[in-house]
Amino acid sequence: MPRRNRAKRDDPRPRPSGTFQRGEEGPDGDWNVRSVTGSAKTYRCPGCDHEIGPGVPHVVAWPTDDYGNVEDRRHWHKACWQARLRRRPTSKRW
Ligand SMILES: [Zn+2]
Repeated sequence: MPRRNRAKRDDPRPRPSGTFQRGEEGPDGDWNVRSVTGSAKTYRCPGCDHEIGPGVPHVVAWPTDDYGNVEDRRHWHKACWQARLRRRPTSKRW
């Protein structure tokens, strides 16, 4: 897989303590998942379509094979991220 070197605006700066990142494999692909203790902005969780307010711990996930940029990342409530496989769009009960 070609390794794309994009602009370094999302460089791995020293991460704040309490933040860690891991790879996660799922039926919907491989993801990088980062736990954050809270951010300054409000995001909308794609799992429940509710807002994640500033300072609320949550996870940030993006596909490993399409790094994209920071705007491509999705911010999820932890529970929504873990529950996403049970409520995928392909399931009948979505
Ligand atoms: Zn949510």
